[in-house]
This record gives sequence, C-alpha cells and structure tokens, in this order.
Amino acid sequence: MSFRTERPQSWQVCTACGNEATELDPHPRCTVCGGLLALAHRPPALTRAELLARFAERRDDGPGATGSGVWRFREMVLPTATDVVSHPEGNTPLLHRAALDAWAGARRLLLKHEGHNPTGSFKDRGMTVGVTQARRVGARAVACASTGNTSASLASYAAHAGLPALVLVPADRVALGKLAQTLAYGATTLLVRGDFDDCLRLVEEASAQLGVYLLNSINPFRIEGQKTIVLELLQQLGWTAPDWIVLPAGNLGNTAAFGKALREAREWGLIDQLPRLAAVQAAGAAPFARSFTEGFEHRYTVRAETVATAIRIGNPASFERAVEAIRETDGVVLAVTDEEILEAKAAIDGSGVGCEPASAASVAGVRDLIRRGLATPDQHTVAILTGHILKDPGILLEYHGKREPAPPGANRPIEIEPSLSAVARAMEARGGR
Ligand SMILES: *Cc1c(COP(=O)(O)O)cnc(C)c1O
Ligand SMILES: [Zn+2]
Repeated sequence: MSFRTERPQSWQVCTACGNEATELDPHPRCTVCGGLLALAHRPPALTRAELLARFAERRDDGPGATGSGVWRFREMVLPTATDVVSHPEGNTPLLHRAALDAWAGARRLLLKHEGHNPTGSFKDRGMTVGVTQARRVGARAVACASTGNTSASLASYAAHAGLPALVLVPADRVALGKLAQTLAYGATTLLVRGDFDDCLRLVEEASAQLGVYLLNSINPFRIEGQKTIVLELLQQLGWTAPDWIVLPAGNLGNTAAFGKALREAREWGLIDQLPRLAAVQAAGAAPFARSFTEGFEHRYTVRAETVATAIRIGNPASFERAVEAIRETDGVVLAVTDEEILEAKAAIDGSGVGCEPASAASVAGVRDLIRRGLATPDQHTVAILTGHILKDPGILLEYHGKREPAPPGANRPIEIEPSLSAVARAMEARGGR
C-alpha cells in the first residue's frame, strides 16, 4: 500500500474558479463563485488495451445496467456508482444512407441515431447518470426545465427510481410527443407562460428554495452520461476518430459533453487524433454561432424562434464550456435556416431513417460545411441525430399535409371514396407508386 494521500476516484471541480467539491456534494453550482461544476476522474491503473477490452466485454452487465451503452464506459462516467437507474440506454446505431450522402454532397456521412434511446432522445444518456446520482445523494424529488425531451427523459427515469419529478416547460411550445410522454410517465408538469429561458431561471430558483435535486443540463452528472455518445461512436469506429462530428446545438450541454469526452479520450490514450466538432444552431436561435464569428469575444442572448423546438434557446447555459469544446477541437459553429432544417429533415425522413426537426440541423450543417469548403466530401463525417421522428408529429402533418405551396419532399395524403377505381386513380396520379 502506498502512504501517499490518493485522490478519490472522482470529484467535482468548478470550471470557473477551480474550487473542488466531493463527488456526493449535491449543490447544483460552485458554492464559492456560482460557476458550473464538472466531474473529474482518476484514470484506472489499466493499459489502453485492458480498458478497451473492459468496454468491449460489458454487453451483459448484470441487473440494472444490462447492456447499457452508458455504464459500459463507467470508468469515464461515474466509476463508484452501484445500483444504477438504467433502462438500459445507448447502444444506438451508426447508419449510412446513400440518399443522404447525395443530399449533403458527402461520400462518407454516418448518422449516429440517438432517437433509438428508450424515451427517444439522447437525453436518456445523461438522465441515467443524473437520476442515479439523485438517489445516491438522497434526493426526495428531482426537477428540470425543458424544451420537452429532458422532461420526458426525467419523468421516465424518475418513475423507474420511484422519485417524484417536477418539470417546467414553455406552454404551447412543446412538441406533442414530448408533452404526451412527460404526462404519461407521471411527472408534475408545469406549463409556464414564457419561453425555455424563463423555465430555466425559475427551476433554478425553485430547486434552491424547495430543496429539490436539479437535473438540468448544467448538472455535471448528466454531462458525464452524454459523453458516451462520443465514446460509443468511437468504439463503433474501432477507436479511430472521424474527421468531423456534427451536432445540433441549443443549450450547449451536449457540445460541452462532446468536448469533454474527446479531451478525456485523448488524455487517457484512447485516441490520438481529435475530430473537429461542428455545432449547428438554428438561424433564429444562434447566439453561439454569432459569438463564434467574432472569435467568441462576446456572449450574446437572443429571443429565440425556430421550428426546431429542442434548440429554441436564446441564452445557452453551457456557453463557456462549449467555447472550450470548439476551441480545443479546432471546431466551427454554424447557423442554418428553418427552411434548410426542414429540407434536411424531409431527406432524412424520406430515406426511411427519420428524426425530429432539431436533429436535422446536423445534416443541414454537413451540407453547409461541404458547400463552404470547410469539409471535403471524402472526409469521415458523423452527424448526430438527437431525437426520434415521432417526437414532433405536429410538424410532420403540417409539412406533408397542409403547407402551401408543397415544400420539398412533401407527401400529401389523398382522401378517397371507398372504391377500387378511386384507389386506381390515386395510384395513377402518383405514377403507380
Ligand atoms: C436537447 C436537444 C438538443 C440540444 O442539445 P443541447 O445540449 O441543449 O445543446 C438537440 N436536439 C434534441 C432532439 C434535443 O433533445
Ligand atoms: Zn467556482
């Protein structure tokens, strides 16, 4: 035994002032300066090959975490956790579709489809860790503000853990599938007459006053879980980094998580080259993209408006951490219009893959990267599809059924009399398809 004072396995550190807190400290922010906290882990005494072998073996992981694509990477997520709250989650596919290569002008575009998670978005990867931690610190209840997917995920994992959940979402602006899920999983659901940024401010105040454990994306344990999107895709690629990873960006928690995952993967010797990150915002909600064009000299707040409700955020909580992620990976930040997002979505849906509107921003971003000469068609590019097509059925019916003039890829339903001749006429009108 060594007599040196060893670091604990994991601890929390303030990203602003460096103050440290224990792993089980339940404060949502640094108690010294109010900055955001991050987890740090001591690397295990294993060689690269031994660690990768562990990751590869954990397909069947015992009760509670059987085959989880998050807990498989536990050394880099939360090594001391036992008794985890897992559905399981992760294990999402990496897809290739020639039709999307053609649409984006790429030759090697892969899609990491996070819509395959248990509640239909990547938020489950953070929530399994966040709700596990809530139980470890003895939380009586959990809470979040959300544009919809975080609330659906929190509601589901809280139900699994037997914890009451409180969610605050903007009234009228939550996609139908997300609101329906949140209600069905049993969370107390507050429809706030305001936007997401109002919800976020309110839930932070409420959690401080009411002693409820806060599970917004500022929660560092959620970030640890979301890192596994990157770890899992690197594993799927045999631990060789792609040239680009392209993701939609709203509150910037995921951009921060991707940066942290890549930094640690390199520090732990798992990869030797960093991919470049491209964070893609909707043009109507692009404070981060605007800041990027000015070398991140100023931080902006905007009044956000976009059809992609999951990234309809004007004052991103993880701004500074996301700046680091872009800087460290020689990354870029793009803004794409709602028209481009919907056109990309029609191409993704039409290829049979499907995703929610915000997810399509990543594929729209790939086309933009290539058109602007920032990426070449031959580069290995992975676009993250963040959520499932059924999250937002409202926009699908509007796009395909109602919008005038018919937009690209619109597939009008045809109402007919119950007769064979009417069926035949309809097929003829569609060229026999
Ligand atoms: C949460 C979410 C995003 C945005 O992620 P941030 O961490 O807020 O930047 C994008 N797409 C979907 C489907 C989401 O649920
Ligand atoms: Zn601090």
